[in-house]
Amino acid sequence: MKIDVLGVGFNNLTLEEAVQAGAGLVETEGFHYTVTPNPEFLLTARKNDAFKQALLGADLVLPDGVGVLYSAKILGRPLKSRVPGIEFAQGLLAWMAGHGKRLFLLGAKPGVAELAAANLKSTYPGLIICGTHDGYFQEDGPVVEEIRASAADVVFVCLGAPKQELWMVHNGPATGAHLMIGLGGSLDVFAGVVERAPKTFQKLGLEWLHRLIKEPKRFGRMAKLPLVLWYALGARIRRR
Ligand code: UDP
Repeated sequence: MKIDVLGVGFNNLTLEEAVQAGAGLVETEGFHYTVTPNPEFLLTARKNDAFKQALLGADLVLPDGVGVLYSAKILGRPLKSRVPGIEFAQGLLAWMAGHGKRLFLLGAKPGVAELAAANLKSTYPGLIICGTHDGYFQEDGPVVEEIRASAADVVFVCLGAPKQELWMVHNGPATGAHLMIGLGGSLDVFAGVVERAPKTFQKLGLEWLHRLIKEPKRFGRMAKLPLVLWYALGARIRRR
């Protein structure tokens, strides 16, 4: 059963349970996709119905961001744990490497996915990366065909939100892949182009602060994020 946080249902899982569930989807016939909403997703979903439907239709919805956890708590429906998309991806990579599964990397600026592929292959010996493509293409058709021809089991879709979620919904089934995961800027991190926040920031739930320090131009976007807590409080009060 999913836990509703401002209209989006989240799976209530630990990181290990989420990785197990992801592996289960890779082994299941048909197409599946995973989303990793943070507070910014929840705000976007309030205004963009196609995006909201894409989040609601996902097989696995993982809370990537303390803001989602705080909102769930305010709503009186606490979630077990934060499951950062990148850590979910790392868990799945380890599993894939041990099970001969094929991975396609889609997204980021030209050259980044190739760099990420090289790093991932050395971190996860045995990992099969069956293709890469940058995220700045005009037509979907040739990219879908490339993924299909690669016989990928899993695709990391890193086009930023909401583009990546809509892309997975529209194009995922035609690729023949079993699992797609929307992972934002993860390829930049795997490639070493962008650093993840140091562990202390991660433990304190302050990854957003690290990002703000590194990319001050995000201030406008991030200043709106406390709004999710405000909306959660409003929803809680209205329910009484
Ligand atoms: N990106 C892409 N194609 C686009 C727009 C963005 O491949 O048309 C990539 C971008 O290069 C970056 C990632 O998507 O690697 C977005 O990362 P970010 O963490 O900014 O995602 P967001 O926070 O917007 O979800």
